[in-house]
Amino acid sequence: MSALDGKRALVTGGSRGIGAAVAARLAEDGANVAVTYVGSPERAEEVVARIEGFGRKGLAIRADSADADAVTAAVDAAAGAFGGLDILVNNAGIFPNGPLAELSVEEIDHTLAIHVRAVLVATKAAVAHMTEGGRIISTGSNLAERVPWPGLSLYSASKSALLGLTRGLARELGPRGITATVVQPGSTDTEMNPAGGAGAAPQLDLNPTGRYAQATDVAATVAYLAGDGGRFINGTAITVDGGLNA
Ligand code: NDP
Repeated sequence: MSALDGKRALVTGGSRGIGAAVAARLAEDGANVAVTYVGSPERAEEVVARIEGFGRKGLAIRADSADADAVTAAVDAAAGAFGGLDILVNNAGIFPNGPLAELSVEEIDHTLAIHVRAVLVATKAAVAHMTEGGRIISTGSNLAERVPWPGLSLYSASKSALLGLTRGLARELGPRGITATVVQPGSTDTEMNPAGGAGAAPQLDLNPTGRYAQATDVAATVAYLAGDGGRFINGTAITVDGGLNA
């Protein structure tokens, strides 16, 4: 028997990068997995094929996290397809950066809609389908707790919000046996932050390991929290940054 046999999961932003690695890992560990995407239908279908390759059910749902109704509908569709939901991974994200003076109000609203409002909305919808043992796991960032460079005010604010949100969820959902946690990756080699990209050098300088994480490193932590290892971890964050924040 695998660690997540029979579990039913939804990963937002599961078409690429960390979300795709999380979806594949949860499936490898036994779960049926739905993923949402917004602009990459083919990539999402590739992830579904990987999930099905592990003998699990996979589902790709187009749902823009900036659209609250679409987020609710995606959660309900995943729960409907699988007959319930055990694991929600709030992962969809973008990387706005630059001086605050140059950020438009629209960009601020858009970021907060994806990184904060969608997490609240998806969680609200998901817990209606969850029973004891449910897991709410959100992808935060090490930049929620340390901001080593300028230009990150909006991004860091949006990821710090997950800490308060998760503590609140722990208080609210703990009595039902549902846990809430944040996984805070550091520099992770994805299209958002390529290890060979122009911005990599200062990140590598600060990292005691001298390397980026692979998306599978982050997925392993999510899988741990989703499984038995996460049973009593609630209302807190685990930082997966190779020690960058140390
Ligand atoms: P990628 O850019 O590689 O992938 C982003 C994923 O989110 C894609 O699946 C994308 O879907 C989806 N997505 C983006 N916007 C939306 C939206 N409006 N609605 C639905 N889905 C959306 O990024 P990463 O994998 O690197 O990032 C994943 C998470 O990890 C994010 O929350 C990010 O902030 C966080 N993170 C990443 C770090 C890094 O160094 N890479 C470090 C710390 C945190 P589509 O393909 O359809 O566009």
